[in-house]
Amino acid sequence: MSGARSTGRVGPDGTARTPFHDCSLPDTWWRSGAGSVRLVPAPGPLGLPDSVRACLFDLDGVLTRTATVHMAAWKRTFDEFLRSHEPGAPEFSQLDYNRYVDGKPRADGVRDFLASRGITLPEGSPGDPADAATVQGIASRKNALVLQELEEHGVEVYPGSVTYLEAVKDAGLATAVVTASANGEQVISAAGFAHLIDVRVDGVVAAREGLRGKPAPDTFLAGARLLGVEPAGAVVFEDALSGVAAGRAGNFGYVVGVDRVGHADELATQGADVVVQDLSELLGAGA
Ligand SMILES: [Mg+2]
Repeated sequence: MSGARSTGRVGPDGTARTPFHDCSLPDTWWRSGAGSVRLVPAPGPLGLPDSVRACLFDLDGVLTRTATVHMAAWKRTFDEFLRSHEPGAPEFSQLDYNRYVDGKPRADGVRDFLASRGITLPEGSPGDPADAATVQGIASRKNALVLQELEEHGVEVYPGSVTYLEAVKDAGLATAVVTASANGEQVISAAGFAHLIDVRVDGVVAAREGLRGKPAPDTFLAGARLLGVEPAGAVVFEDALSGVAAGRAGNFGYVVGVDRVGHADELATQGADVVVQDLSELLGAGA
């Protein structure tokens, strides 16, 4: 059978799409009306092609609710900066987060958002104080806010994601967490599912190995390599536009877009094979 290259359940405007052509699939699966169609194998019990041997999960926004923590920290950081640097400038928005920041290494997010506002700052050095008007200083400020929030409120998981992780392990597939976060190890540990994760490629590993961040595919490729699986035998799970783009750029066997903020259409445009709002929707979706 063939599958849709991009499949959003509903668009941001709430309109439903043409149903996915396989009638054995639940009606939560839809074929996007736009874009080219790519052939993919039939999904199995995990909602993935049977050829998949490994699952590469983004962390923030896919397994844990920490994407909202990051968004809030970025917003406070950038809004304070904009108020002092460009009074009257529009505040940092969810759209800014989706387009310029989400999924990327911290300093790349700072640079890319500021560039979207026509602002260039000196790079500075990693570890610059949080009040320094440098790319690294702004990155430090944001990270301090994230760590403070996680310290105070802990890490919330998506129950559907943990259920899915357990099903993946039960099925004998290998698992990796691939995240730009430099706090990946601590977040996984605090979230309580470290026993379900075989390998981790986080911001610390990426910096040590000189891996480019998403949307470059390097970190996902490293995850597959550590698991001994070819990209074609691995699936990428991502909530960030940059992450879905990385999955497509790496020629992975399948890319699952996870829509937590109503950007299903953009995830599909970036190359998601399927878009879900919760990973549990994939369970039992196969023939
Ligand atoms: Mg994410």
